[in-house]
Parts: sequence; C-alpha cells; structure tokens
Amino acid sequence: MAMTVTISERLHKIAAYCPAGARVADIGSDHALLAAYLLNSGMASFVVAGELNEGPYRAARQQLARATAEGRASVRRGDGLEVLEPGEVEVICIAGMGGQLIASILERGKAKLPGVRRLILQPNVGEELVREWLLQNDWELVAESILEEDGVLYEILVAEPGEGDKPYRDQERPIAELLRLGPHLWRDKPPLLAKRWGREREKHAKILSQLAHSRSPQAKERARQIKQELDWIDEVVTCLQTDKR
Ligand code: SAM
Repeated sequence: MAMTVTISERLHKIAAYCPAGARVADIGSDHALLAAYLLNSGMASFVVAGELNEGPYRAARQQLARATAEGRASVRRGDGLEVLEPGEVEVICIAGMGGQLIASILERGKAKLPGVRRLILQPNVGEELVREWLLQNDWELVAESILEEDGVLYEILVAEPGEGDKPYRDQERPIAELLRLGPHLWRDKPPLLAKRWGREREKHAKILSQLAHSRSPQAKERARQIKQELDWIDEVVTCLQTDKR
C-alpha cells in the first residue's frame, strides 16, 4: 500500500500544476517529498528526483526506495537537468531555489527540454530572472500564483512551449515591469500581490532611512536609486490597492 506523504501547502500547490499521470522530474528534490507525493497520490506515473548534493540525494533514495524497486522512480545525483535523458519526462519541477539558479539550470539544460510540455518553477527570490529566461526561450507563462506559508510569500510560475511574449501583450505596463510583477499576477491582482509589494516598499523605505545618515557621495547616489525604486513601488502598491476587488 502507498505510504502517506505529508507536504507543505507550497508543495501542494506545485503538485496541483502537474498534469495527471505525467512523467515528472523534480530537480533539486532534497528529500524527494514532492516526488513521493506525486507518485503516492497517483498524480505522476513516473518520477525522476535529481539532486546535486550527497546528503539530500541519500535522503531522496531512501524516500523513494520502494518506488525505485518497482520501476516507478529513479533518484539521480547530478547538476540540474544533466541527470535527464532527452524525452524522458514531460514535466519538470524546479522549486525552492533562487531565480538565478533556476534560470541557469534551464539555460545549461536546454538540450533536455524538447519533449517537455510543462515547467513548474518556484523561485524563492529573483522571479524576474526566471520570467526573462522563459520569455527569451519561447516558453509561454500559462499560469502564476502566489501563496503565503509561515509568513513567507512564494510565487509559482507555470510555462509551456509556445509564444514567450503572449502573456505580456495587451497589458497596460511595459514588459520590463511585468517581468518583475508577473503578467498573470498583475492581470489577476490577487490580494497577496499587494502584500508582496507592500513588503518590498517597507524594505526599501528602511534602506532609504539608513542611507539618510550617511554623507558619502556613494551613499547619496544609492539613496537616489532607492528613492526612484521606492517611487515605482509606491505607484504599484497604490494601483493594487485601488484595483482591489
Ligand atoms: N525542491 C525542494 C523544495 O522546494 O522544497 C527542495 C528545495 S532545497 C531548498 C534546494 C535543493 O536543491 C537542495 O537540496 C540542493 O542540494 C539542491 N540543488 C541546488 N543546486 C542544484 C543543482 N544545480 N542541481 C540539482 N540540485 C540542486
């Protein structure tokens, strides 16, 4: 009988974006909780758990030992998508890392992407770097969501092969801004988006007040940049509050 795996709300939300019965790779799987959940709930027919580091790799092997013996899972140690054979999986999840690392994993692993029909990405920071990579490589963002867990806000980006610029068309803001805001998030304006940018405003306001004590020309220039950024964030937050349904 399948073992019950308890996962966080964040991983639940990621799992919910997996098409039923898909062959899924979870890259940077850590203890392979997501992969185990996908298998045990019948949401995935086969999983590859990829891990760079020895400790989590061992934990993943343990977690998926039975499924591996049954031929439903494969745990592999390696960097990013190098653990995959071309065409082996239909869905790739990369979650819980910085956006820069996720974009670099995708860039270095481009040769493994033909045949993949969905990417489910959850950057902890630097979401715009992931959106930029998707845009430049014709992966169309088809959904975005934002959630809060233990006081931390997370964004999930879902992309499929298609027209990278499609979600950015016919929007009231330029692409450069939507890469930061998220084109779907900006269109839908979930309440947590206002919270996310409200926090960004607090962070910037704090830096600005700290810089106010310094007289160095570098600090003055930095303060000018932060002020400019703060003005933009203020306008975004006002807009989100005004448009609130
Ligand atoms: N994906 C899980 C989640 O969202 O809960 C685990 C996130 S954990 C913070 C990040 C994991 O990615 C770590 O276990 C780390 O060892 C692994 N990792 C970091 N860089 C990697 C890479 N280039 N390739 C594969 N795994 C990597």
